[in-house]
Amino acid sequence: MRPFPHLTELQGWRASLLWFAKPETTHASHEQDGLLITAREADGIVRIQAIGPYRELVPQFTGLPVTHWPDLCIAPGFVDLHTHYPQTDVIGSPADGLLPWLEHYTYPHEKKFSAPDYAHEVTRFFLDELMRHGVTTAMCFATAHPESVDVFMAEAQKRHLRMITGKVLQDRHSPDGLRDTDTPQSLRQTEDLIRRWHGVDRLGYAITPRFAPTSSDAQLQGAGEIAQHFPDVWIQSHVAENLDEIRWVHELFPEARSYLDVYDRAGLLRQRSVYAHCIHLDATDRHRMAEVGATVAVSPTSNLFLGSGFFDYAASDAAGLGYGLASDVGGGTSFSPFHTMHAAYTVARQSVGRAGLSLAPEHLWWQHTAGAAAALDLNGKVGNLLPGCEADFVVLNPKATPLLARRTAQTEALAEWLFTMIVLGDERLIAHTVVQGKIAADNRT
Ligand SMILES: [Zn+2]
Repeated sequence: MRPFPHLTELQGWRASLLWFAKPETTHASHEQDGLLITAREADGIVRIQAIGPYRELVPQFTGLPVTHWPDLCIAPGFVDLHTHYPQTDVIGSPADGLLPWLEHYTYPHEKKFSAPDYAHEVTRFFLDELMRHGVTTAMCFATAHPESVDVFMAEAQKRHLRMITGKVLQDRHSPDGLRDTDTPQSLRQTEDLIRRWHGVDRLGYAITPRFAPTSSDAQLQGAGEIAQHFPDVWIQSHVAENLDEIRWVHELFPEARSYLDVYDRAGLLRQRSVYAHCIHLDATDRHRMAEVGATVAVSPTSNLFLGSGFFDYAASDAAGLGYGLASDVGGGTSFSPFHTMHAAYTVARQSVGRAGLSLAPEHLWWQHTAGAAAALDLNGKVGNLLPGCEADFVVLNPKATPLLARRTAQTEALAEWLFTMIVLGDERLIAHTVVQGKIAADNRT
């Protein structure tokens, strides 16, 4: 009997498999000759139906079409917890820290996104880059212009991607052309965009105050009210990235106990709120975030590039704070999840006041897949290959370069193999990216 008679487009994918069988842990599973089975379900979404050893699964599926990649490895699509598509052309702009970088490069560039044609061209390039690098889901800033959200959402919808974005809220300390000149209107625009895009196909909306210094009290409070009205919408912002920024926040919000407390008082700290950086938090902040289910987008290439500091893994684990990895393009220096995982390893080695952590490669990989999905409250949907997950995955070629082929051939344990790819990998390691059961990027041609 043919299993799953109610499904269409049943498809098998034979290769070695890497996934997280118990995603609440960072332990990775690996099957040398595995079979992944995907199919389109009644709601139109292609999901994983089964995963396991080829020899065990294939007898149950007579006549199943199977794509066979003998030397490749299927792994979950990467999840980027924090990035800015309008900063694609700001990557690699040097500055003396965060605030000068915003003023000299980022703000002038983001003004261009009032033009939908321009925003569309950058969106297409950005999404192509995500696909080339194996990133299948991202939580992304747009700009202050509502058009920049419409254009991104429409293109992501056309490509059947699971993406989250939102209009940036910034009604002060921002240049003309980027500043919300009418605060109530900026909040109405946010609500309109939520109604237009949130939950449509695989799209999600994030309420997006840029960071506390560029929003008035009224705008933050208004954003918090919208968050209360739409509890399954995401919230994204930045917090405690840079010491100059923190001093400025204390001047602007003297009543707040901490930088994080500014968001908490506005009702912007809850489940499905993801804060980038979280470098200079104290124990009270970390416990508060953990208590309400807010999570951290750890952005190590950005933190190293702008000299902001180092995320404290040990203190975050002690507080039970959830986190995952992010590129933070364009403060971050790469679209590559391998570069980000490598930088996260480097950052953990620099832990202040202790001997330094050596994060396990499986843990690093988890932070960019199943762990990042959990931080988004999307565990069981993306970032893994368990049955029920949406069929977005990467196909790794561990022999993509002469050095990778030489080094991976010499590894014995799974952890060594993963670590070699983390340190030596880039987009050449991604042979294919598969979204909803279709090849969305083919780096081998
Ligand atoms: Zn950012």
